[in-house]
Amino acid sequence: EPELSGEFAEILNWADEFRTLGVRANADTPADARIARDFGSEGIGLCRTEHMFFDGDRIDAVREMILAENEDGRRRALKKIKPYQKEDFIGLFEAMDGLPVTVRLLDPPLHEFIPHTDEEVKRVADGSGLSVEQLKAKAVELHEFNPMLGHRGCRLGVTYPEVYEMQVYAIMEAACELKKAGKDVQPEIMIPLVGHVKELKELEEMTRAVASEVIAAAGVELEYLVGTMIELPRAALTADEVAECAEFFSFGTNDLTQTTLGLSRDDSGKFLPLYIEKGIYKEDPFVSIDESGVGQLVEMGVQKGRSTRPGLKTGICGEHGGDPASIFFCQKAGLNYVSCSPFRVPVARLAAAHAALKA
Ligand code: PEP
Ligand code: MG
Repeated sequence: EPELSGEFAEILNWADEFRTLGVRANADTPADARIARDFGSEGIGLCRTEHMFFDGDRIDAVREMILAENEDGRRRALKKIKPYQKEDFIGLFEAMDGLPVTVRLLDPPLHEFIPHTDEEVKRVADGSGLSVEQLKAKAVELHEFNPMLGHRGCRLGVTYPEVYEMQVYAIMEAACELKKAGKDVQPEIMIPLVGHVKELKELEEMTRAVASEVIAAAGVELEYLVGTMIELPRAALTADEVAECAEFFSFGTNDLTQTTLGLSRDDSGKFLPLYIEKGIYKEDPFVSIDESGVGQLVEMGVQKGRSTRPGLKTGICGEHGGDPASIFFCQKAGLNYVSCSPFRVPVARLAAAHAALKA
């Protein structure tokens, strides 16, 4: 177990007296959440739920869900996944012991869930009652040439609402169970890859309906938030509309960089060094916020969001959230918190204090 000790811990405690930006962590497992807390994280700013769908045997049920012919088939498969999901969230909430936990609803490039080998297809067929031929045909149908700009994020929630619904039930049931046992929980449900307020509205309404139902059935009082990621230029440009349906914004600067610069986050490495050498890019835009492009959209998103909802809580959860230069920018842009990988939390605390002193 890593932990901060001695003089280093003391310096960071001094830093905390000055910083105004909150520091949270991106963590998907209770183990990572505990590391983040030991390093001084004030909450989870991004729990990606994708990996949870790959764990152990679950992937077969997930593939079954993705390849199902219709909603009934998807619901049958989702029933197998739900108990695992609930356990995942109980573990995270317990590890964070009452600190806020932002859970992002599923955001996979769909192709990652499609079975590739005959063996994988057969396992899904055995569990689902569908034929191998049917499954293979469906897998071909789901193929995308550009999955990162395809059927992912909230588009999945709009086309297969039962998937997000299952996740919201699992999050809220986990939270209510802990609350009933006298523990503190602060769930924040986050919808990814929103580009238009109508996508968000639909999913926000579903989320609130499910949450109210679970809270009423449990007979507890529980506060929760529903918010969105701002990770497409369109979401930043229309942030005043988006804010009508969001209680918080979290800037996903990985995708926002990819979509603003039109630059693949997965294979920009080939020409980037030359671009940096020539000064076309000041530095790697996936490491440090590109202030002239992405940064302007972040500032615009904050301002427009707050014009609709004064005091709107805003954070950043792209990789930039742990980069000192980007943290300076986040302070200037008026964000409330940064969220970064657990091992970068100490550096983020220090950088946030520097940024506050500079401001
Ligand atoms: C982002 O796009 O910045 C983000 C945090 O989401 P992900 O990296 O999971 O796409
Ligand atoms: Mg993203």
